[in-house]
This record gives sequence, C-alpha cells and structure tokens, in this order.
Amino acid sequence: MTELERLKAECLACRRCAIGGVSMDGNPCNVFSNMNAGAKIVVVGQNPGKNEVLQGEPFVGVSGEFFNQAIGDVLGVGRERFYICNTVRCFTPGNRRPYRLEVDNCRDFLDREMALVQPEVIVTLGGPALKQITGMGGVSKHHGELQVSLRYKCRVLPLLHPSPLNMNTLSKREDFYRDLAVLREFLG
Ligand code: URA
Repeated sequence: MTELERLKAECLACRRCAIGGVSMDGNPCNVFSNMNAGAKIVVVGQNPGKNEVLQGEPFVGVSGEFFNQAIGDVLGVGRERFYICNTVRCFTPGNRRPYRLEVDNCRDFLDREMALVQPEVIVTLGGPALKQITGMGGVSKHHGELQVSLRYKCRVLPLLHPSPLNMNTLSKREDFYRDLAVLREFLG
C-alpha cells in the first residue's frame, strides 16, 4: 500500500465531523481524490455531491462535466492530467456550504496530500477552496490572479466554481475560460 492509499483509507474511515461516514444509498459519503499522484496540477473543489459519493471520485457530476469541457477547450487536456480533491471530503446535508469546523477538520488530509504530490500549482474552484488554501476571501474579485502559497510551496490559481449556476451565466463562463488561459500561460 502506498502512503497515498493509506491516507485515502484514513479519510474514508474519518468520523471527526457529524457528516463523516453518513450513508447515501449504502455508500459512506466520504470521497477522497482521484489518486493521480503523478500530476503536477492539483485541483481543489468544495465538497462531493451525490454523484461523487456514488462513484467515489470528485467532480464526476454536472460541475465535473463543465470542468472537463473547459480544460479540453482551453488546455487541450483531460482530467487525468490533474490530481483532483476537495476542501471537505464528505457530502453535506442538502449540499450546504461546509462549516468552518468541517473545513478545519479536513485540512490535515490536504496538508499530507500536498506533501506527497508536491504540485507546481494548486487550482482552487470556488470560495471555500480558496479560503482553505490561502486564507483569502473574495473569489469573485481575485479569480484569475496567480498567488503564492508558502505553506504548500507552489503557486495558487483561484477560479470560480464550475457549478451550473456559474457556468450557465455567460459572463462567469467567460471568466472561467479566461482564468484557465492564465493556467495555460503559466504552464507554458
Ligand atoms: N463540487 C465540488 O466542489 N466538488 C465535487 O467533487 C463535486 C462538485
């Protein structure tokens, strides 16, 4: 078993928060990552939805489809080029925004993952991910602005969340595409 596989097992068994391990159609609602440890780009979303719980992988529902489409269009690559995970690893009741406590409790997984993956850049999707990784608020103001993380020793690129709410709004979809072009430039 690799270190990452051990961390995944720990995450799936995690019951620190009240939402940990809650059953959805017989599946525990904890979802770790896509386990692509060789990737140099890490993508961090908010927390898994129902599709993610059922398939055991982040961003495989509607938001994931928007994300896949956009990276194909702008970067010409598929999701296998990324290590994909979430700020909070469990489904939240009614898909509510995670509580501060839940974000704090999950930080340990992120820290240990980043030490193993050692990305060149972390792409945050939406406000909770930006906040967890940089402490910054204001994703609607700062999306597309490359930042530096001393904690993770890499760059951070904040993006809007590719939720249907954002992607079905033309201006926000254009922002998302423009910000991905910043990533393309950075990667050269
Ligand atoms: N939205 C997220 O933020 N993460 C997922 O894994 C799915 C939808």
